[in-house]
Amino acid sequence: MEPLYAKEKENNFENYIVECPHCKQEITFNRSTDLKHLIKPYQLVVGCAEVECLNYECKKRFWIEDNVASEKHRYLINDCYKLIKQKRYMACIINLCTACEAFFLKGLNVRLLWEPWSEGVFEADIEKFNETSRVLHDQVHDCTFTKLRNLFFDMYLNDKHFHTQEEILYYIERLCKCLANFDPKKEDIERVEDRITRELFLKLKCLSINSLRNDVAHKYVFRPEKQQVERHFEEVREVVIGLETRLNIEHQINYFIK
Ligand SMILES: [Zn+2]
Repeated sequence: MEPLYAKEKENNFENYIVECPHCKQEITFNRSTDLKHLIKPYQLVVGCAEVECLNYECKKRFWIEDNVASEKHRYLINDCYKLIKQKRYMACIINLCTACEAFFLKGLNVRLLWEPWSEGVFEADIEKFNETSRVLHDQVHDCTFTKLRNLFFDMYLNDKHFHTQEEILYYIERLCKCLANFDPKKEDIERVEDRITRELFLKLKCLSINSLRNDVAHKYVFRPEKQQVERHFEEVREVVIGLETRLNIEHQINYFIK
Protein backbone atom coordinates (compact mmCIF):
# COMPACT_ATOMS: atom_id res chain seq x y z
CA MET A 1 0.00 0.00 0.00
CA GLU A 2 1.21 3.54 -0.82
CA PRO A 3 2.17 5.51 2.30
CA LEU A 4 -0.44 8.14 3.14
CA TYR A 5 0.80 11.70 3.57
CA ALA A 6 -0.97 14.41 5.56
CA LYS A 7 -1.81 17.74 3.99
CA GLU A 8 0.10 20.59 5.66
CA LYS A 9 -2.14 23.41 6.94
CA GLU A 10 0.28 25.54 8.92
CA ASN A 11 3.92 25.50 9.91
CA ASN A 12 4.93 27.85 12.71
CA PHE A 13 7.79 27.82 15.20
CA GLU A 14 5.99 25.74 17.81
CA ASN A 15 3.46 23.71 15.86
CA TYR A 16 3.12 21.66 12.71
CA ILE A 17 -0.56 21.54 11.73
CA VAL A 18 -1.95 19.05 9.22
CA GLU A 19 -5.16 17.45 8.04
CA CYS A 20 -5.25 13.75 8.90
CA PRO A 21 -5.67 11.76 5.65
CA HIS A 22 -7.93 9.25 7.47
CA CYS A 23 -10.34 11.21 9.69
CA LYS A 24 -9.86 14.59 7.91
CA GLN A 25 -9.54 16.39 11.28
CA GLU A 26 -7.10 19.24 11.75
CA ILE A 27 -4.30 17.87 13.92
CA THR A 28 -1.86 20.14 15.75
CA PHE A 29 1.48 18.53 16.49
CA ASN A 30 3.44 20.56 19.01
CA ARG A 31 7.10 20.06 18.18
CA SER A 32 8.22 20.04 21.83
CA THR A 33 5.44 17.84 23.16
CA ASP A 34 4.24 15.57 20.34
CA LEU A 35 7.22 15.37 17.99
CA LYS A 36 10.21 15.80 20.32
CA HIS A 37 11.32 12.15 19.91
CA LEU A 38 11.53 12.68 16.13
CA ILE A 39 13.62 15.88 16.11
CA LYS A 40 17.38 15.46 15.94
CA PRO A 41 19.68 17.62 18.11
CA TYR A 42 20.45 21.02 16.52
CA GLN A 43 17.40 20.74 14.24
CA LEU A 44 14.19 22.70 14.46
CA VAL A 45 11.89 20.42 12.47
CA VAL A 46 11.17 16.71 12.10
CA GLY A 47 11.82 16.08 8.42
CA CYS A 48 9.91 13.14 6.97
CA ALA A 49 8.39 10.76 9.53
CA GLU A 50 5.50 8.42 10.25
CA VAL A 51 3.21 9.57 13.08
CA GLU A 52 -0.04 8.58 14.73
CA CYS A 53 -3.17 10.71 14.49
CA LEU A 54 -3.80 12.59 17.75
CA ASN A 55 -7.56 12.26 17.36
CA TYR A 56 -8.19 9.44 19.85
CA GLU A 57 -11.14 8.13 17.77
CA CYS A 58 -8.82 7.72 14.78
CA LYS A 59 -5.26 7.00 15.98
CA LYS A 60 -4.34 5.80 12.47
CA ARG A 61 -0.81 6.20 11.15
CA PHE A 62 0.29 8.50 8.34
CA TRP A 63 3.36 10.39 7.14
CA ILE A 64 4.29 14.04 7.58
CA GLU A 65 6.84 16.09 5.68
CA ASP A 66 7.93 18.71 8.17
CA ASN A 67 10.86 19.82 6.06
CA VAL A 68 10.79 23.59 5.80
CA ALA A 69 13.06 24.84 8.55
CA SER A 70 12.98 28.57 8.69
CA GLU A 71 15.22 30.32 11.18
CA LYS A 72 13.94 31.20 14.63
CA HIS A 73 13.73 34.96 14.06
CA ARG A 74 11.94 34.45 10.72
CA TYR A 75 9.40 32.05 12.26
CA LEU A 76 8.70 34.57 15.03
CA ILE A 77 8.24 37.43 12.58
CA ASN A 78 6.04 35.36 10.25
CA ASP A 79 3.82 34.28 13.15
CA CYS A 80 2.93 37.96 13.64
CA TYR A 81 0.75 38.08 10.50
CA LYS A 82 -1.66 35.64 12.12
CA LEU A 83 -1.35 37.19 15.59
CA ILE A 84 -2.27 40.62 14.20
CA LYS A 85 -5.24 39.13 12.33
CA GLN A 86 -6.40 37.51 15.57
CA LYS A 87 -5.86 40.84 17.41
CA ARG A 88 -3.38 39.14 19.73
CA TYR A 89 -1.24 42.27 19.93
CA MET A 90 0.48 41.47 23.23
CA ALA A 91 1.75 38.14 21.88
CA CYS A 92 2.85 39.92 18.72
CA ILE A 93 5.02 42.41 20.65
CA ILE A 94 6.68 39.60 22.59
CA ASN A 95 7.36 37.70 19.34
CA LEU A 96 8.90 40.76 17.68
CA CYS A 97 11.27 41.52 20.54
CA THR A 98 12.30 37.87 20.84
CA ALA A 99 12.84 37.79 17.06
CA CYS A 100 15.31 40.68 17.39
CA GLU A 101 17.17 38.98 20.24
CA ALA A 102 17.35 35.70 18.29
CA PHE A 103 18.65 37.59 15.26
CA PHE A 104 21.36 39.42 17.27
CA LEU A 105 22.46 36.11 18.76
CA LYS A 106 22.54 34.55 15.33
CA GLY A 107 24.81 37.38 14.20
CA LEU A 108 27.21 36.56 17.06
CA ASN A 109 27.11 32.85 16.25
CA VAL A 110 27.97 33.58 12.63
CA ARG A 111 31.08 35.63 13.39
CA LEU A 112 32.34 33.71 16.43
CA LEU A 113 31.47 30.13 15.48
CA TRP A 114 30.09 29.38 12.05
CA GLU A 115 32.35 31.55 9.87
CA PRO A 116 35.48 30.35 11.72
CA TRP A 117 34.23 26.75 11.38
CA SER A 118 33.81 27.14 7.63
CA GLU A 119 37.33 28.61 7.42
CA GLY A 120 38.89 25.69 9.30
CA VAL A 121 39.70 27.61 12.51
CA PHE A 122 38.42 24.68 14.62
CA GLU A 123 40.43 22.19 12.49
CA ALA A 124 37.18 20.28 11.79
CA ASP A 125 37.11 19.25 15.47
CA ILE A 126 33.43 19.29 16.47
CA GLU A 127 34.31 18.94 20.18
CA LYS A 128 36.36 22.17 20.10
CA PHE A 129 33.52 23.87 18.25
CA ASN A 130 30.91 22.67 20.76
CA GLU A 131 33.05 23.71 23.72
CA THR A 132 33.50 27.24 22.30
CA SER A 133 29.77 27.38 21.60
CA ARG A 134 29.09 26.43 25.26
CA VAL A 135 31.44 29.15 26.54
CA LEU A 136 29.78 31.75 24.30
CA HIS A 137 26.26 30.77 25.32
CA ASP A 138 27.15 30.78 29.03
CA GLN A 139 28.42 34.35 28.59
CA VAL A 140 25.35 35.68 26.75
CA HIS A 141 22.84 33.71 28.83
CA ASP A 142 21.63 36.73 30.80
CA CYS A 143 21.98 39.31 28.01
CA THR A 144 18.73 40.76 26.74
CA PHE A 145 17.83 43.17 23.93
CA THR A 146 20.09 46.18 24.61
CA LYS A 147 23.28 44.25 25.34
CA LEU A 148 22.70 41.89 22.42
CA ARG A 149 22.09 44.84 20.10
CA ASN A 150 25.32 46.48 21.31
CA LEU A 151 27.22 43.25 20.67
CA PHE A 152 25.67 43.00 17.21
CA PHE A 153 26.82 46.57 16.51
CA ASP A 154 30.32 45.84 17.76
CA MET A 155 30.50 42.80 15.50
CA TYR A 156 29.05 44.27 12.30
CA LEU A 157 29.58 48.01 12.49
CA ASN A 158 33.21 47.43 13.49
CA ASP A 159 33.32 44.50 11.05
CA LYS A 160 35.07 42.00 13.31
CA HIS A 161 36.34 38.64 12.05
CA PHE A 162 38.23 35.94 13.89
CA HIS A 163 40.98 33.75 12.54
CA THR A 164 42.21 31.77 15.56
CA GLN A 165 40.57 30.04 18.52
CA GLU A 166 42.54 32.33 20.86
CA GLU A 167 41.05 35.45 19.25
CA ILE A 168 37.56 34.00 19.61
CA LEU A 169 38.00 33.07 23.28
CA TYR A 170 39.58 36.43 24.10
CA TYR A 171 36.56 38.18 22.56
CA ILE A 172 34.07 35.97 24.41
CA GLU A 173 35.88 36.61 27.70
CA ARG A 174 35.34 40.38 27.39
CA LEU A 175 31.89 40.10 25.90
CA CYS A 176 29.61 40.87 28.85
CA LYS A 177 31.67 43.23 30.98
CA CYS A 178 33.05 45.43 28.27
CA LEU A 179 31.88 44.83 24.70
CA ALA A 180 28.15 44.71 25.53
CA ASN A 181 28.39 48.37 26.55
CA PHE A 182 29.34 49.46 23.04
CA ASP A 183 26.54 51.84 22.11
CA PRO A 184 27.54 53.49 18.83
CA LYS A 185 26.97 57.20 18.31
CA LYS A 186 25.04 58.43 15.29
CA GLU A 187 28.32 59.75 13.82
CA ASP A 188 29.87 56.26 14.03
CA ILE A 189 27.00 54.85 11.98
CA GLU A 190 27.07 57.70 9.50
CA ARG A 191 30.56 56.64 8.45
CA VAL A 192 29.15 53.44 6.89
CA GLU A 193 29.62 53.80 3.14
CA ASP A 194 26.75 51.71 1.83
CA ARG A 195 23.60 53.87 2.04
CA ILE A 196 21.10 51.05 2.63
CA THR A 197 23.20 49.41 5.35
CA ARG A 198 23.73 52.81 6.99
CA GLU A 199 20.00 53.54 7.09
CA LEU A 200 19.25 50.08 8.47
CA PHE A 201 21.87 50.54 11.23
CA LEU A 202 20.33 53.92 12.12
CA LYS A 203 16.89 52.33 12.32
CA LEU A 204 18.32 49.49 14.41
CA LYS A 205 19.68 52.04 16.89
CA CYS A 206 16.20 53.61 17.16
CA LEU A 207 14.19 50.40 17.67
CA SER A 208 12.19 50.61 20.88
CA ILE A 209 10.37 47.26 20.73
CA ASN A 210 12.21 46.20 23.93
CA SER A 211 10.65 48.89 26.06
CA LEU A 212 7.15 48.06 24.77
CA ARG A 213 7.88 44.35 25.35
CA ASN A 214 8.82 45.10 28.96
CA ASP A 215 5.54 46.98 29.48
CA VAL A 216 3.57 44.08 27.97
CA ALA A 217 5.42 41.15 29.50
CA HIS A 218 6.23 42.40 32.96
CA LYS A 219 4.23 43.75 35.86
CA TYR A 220 2.22 46.46 34.02
CA VAL A 221 0.66 43.90 31.62
CA PHE A 222 0.16 46.71 29.12
CA ARG A 223 -2.36 46.19 26.26
CA PRO A 224 -0.95 47.74 23.07
CA GLU A 225 -3.12 49.20 20.28
CA LYS A 226 -3.34 47.99 16.69
CA GLN A 227 -1.54 50.94 15.06
CA GLN A 228 1.28 50.81 17.59
CA VAL A 229 1.79 47.08 16.96
CA GLU A 230 1.66 47.43 13.19
CA ARG A 231 4.27 50.19 13.30
CA HIS A 232 6.67 48.08 15.38
CA PHE A 233 6.01 45.06 13.16
CA GLU A 234 7.00 47.01 10.03
CA GLU A 235 10.10 48.47 11.71
CA VAL A 236 11.37 45.16 13.10
CA ARG A 237 10.72 43.29 9.87
CA GLU A 238 12.48 45.89 7.76
CA VAL A 239 15.54 46.11 10.03
CA VAL A 240 16.00 42.39 10.76
CA ILE A 241 15.33 41.01 7.27
CA GLY A 242 17.11 43.98 5.68
CA LEU A 243 20.29 43.60 7.74
CA GLU A 244 20.29 39.84 7.32
CA THR A 245 20.35 40.31 3.54
CA ARG A 246 22.65 43.32 3.44
CA LEU A 247 25.27 41.84 5.77
CA ASN A 248 25.12 38.40 4.07
CA ILE A 249 24.16 36.64 7.29
CA GLU A 250 23.34 33.26 5.86
CA HIS A 251 21.37 30.26 7.08
CA GLN A 252 23.38 28.20 9.58
CA ILE A 253 23.45 25.19 7.27
CA ASN A 254 25.40 27.13 4.61
CA TYR A 255 28.41 27.52 6.90
CA PHE A 256 28.63 23.78 7.45
CA ILE A 257 28.56 22.73 3.82
CA LYS A 258 31.12 25.23 2.56
ZN1 LIG B 1 -7.07 10.96 12.08
